[in-house]
Amino acid sequence: MRFCKRCVEPDTRPDCIFDDEGICYPCRYRETLPGVDWDERRRQLEAIVDRHRGRGRSGYDCIVPVSGGKDSTRQSLFMRDELGLRPLLASLTYPPEHQTERGAANLENLIRLGFDTYIVSPAPQLWKRLMRTGFYKFGNMAKSTELPLYASAPKVAIAYGIPLVVYGENPTLSWGSAGGSLDGDANNLKYNNTLKGGDLTPWIEEGIRPRDLYLYTYPSDEDIDRAGLRMIFLGYYIPDFYDFVNARVALEHGLTQRHGIDARPEENGHIAPFDALDDDFVMVNQLLKHLKFGFGKVTQQVSGAIRSGFLTRERGIELVRLYDGQCSARFIRRFCDYIEIGEDEFWRVAESYRNPEIWERDRRGRWVPKFAIYYDTPDHRRPPDHEADVVHPQPLAGAC
Ligand SMILES: [Zn+2]
Repeated sequence: MRFCKRCVEPDTRPDCIFDDEGICYPCRYRETLPGVDWDERRRQLEAIVDRHRGRGRSGYDCIVPVSGGKDSTRQSLFMRDELGLRPLLASLTYPPEHQTERGAANLENLIRLGFDTYIVSPAPQLWKRLMRTGFYKFGNMAKSTELPLYASAPKVAIAYGIPLVVYGENPTLSWGSAGGSLDGDANNLKYNNTLKGGDLTPWIEEGIRPRDLYLYTYPSDEDIDRAGLRMIFLGYYIPDFYDFVNARVALEHGLTQRHGIDARPEENGHIAPFDALDDDFVMVNQLLKHLKFGFGKVTQQVSGAIRSGFLTRERGIELVRLYDGQCSARFIRRFCDYIEIGEDEFWRVAESYRNPEIWERDRRGRWVPKFAIYYDTPDHRRPPDHEADVVHPQPLAGAC
């Protein structure tokens, strides 16, 4: 298992790219940003927008897929207030047992800022069945939930004759995974590692009828072409479109982030209080990812913060050691109750996904990581200190 020499990205992330010097693609991309002509990028964005402005059959110029979280709040405000478009927001909401109160409040906040919003809400029974299947079959209970999450915006766009879909970050440039592009083009998003082109075979094999999966079905390339649908990553065109900055903008517009026990990194495996606000099961998924690939959300957050200059690599490694893959027992219990299994059964399945190439047992029989990053750098092991270790949103100035 290799780690990027600049940030803390491991080469176990599916589809990641490292160059001969051991630097990951997002770090290399970030190197190029000071040389970018941002005025030119802005002109590119405005040219795209102008091409689609006023062309929506239903009076909307674009769709912004939203959860009400930091990125989607900034995207919505930017498209309306900066570019003067008329966006329709499209939100996929989770069933009540899955969605947090905080997530519902944030979506309500965004709508209250004056947007028309289209809510897509798949049936809770099938949603739960698919999550349970994803947990057993892939060690990834978000495998099914990502399908309607990504499919809903282009589906609504095609149905309502809206020509443009505006996503936020480009996953290839921001964290090095597939499904993005090397510029602002988002038309290939469905080929990311989770969606795999929107393939429904794993679910149909479980006996689920294709007609029950309509909301989980991504539009075909032909449907997208026929509709003349353009999809872009707004993050490519804005110089400071980073987590920590988007969170600051969203907070100034009423976002509620995690606080108290919910913001503690040792509880939720996050070092920032503004990610995944609408979903607590995602913590359990990050724990599973840590067993499979040796990294979780803290690795991604720390890498982003290092590239943005908010953290040193040494401090980032310390935070990864302390908190990556952490998940409170209360989240695991809640997930077990939700998919109706016992905790022993949860751990039996979870352990079956532990990768023995990156984990080994110590003399006392406990699992310890074999990751080189832990041994190539000075050891600063210390008790968690959630007050000091949470990395807070950053002001607009100072990014980039
Ligand atoms: Zn890197």
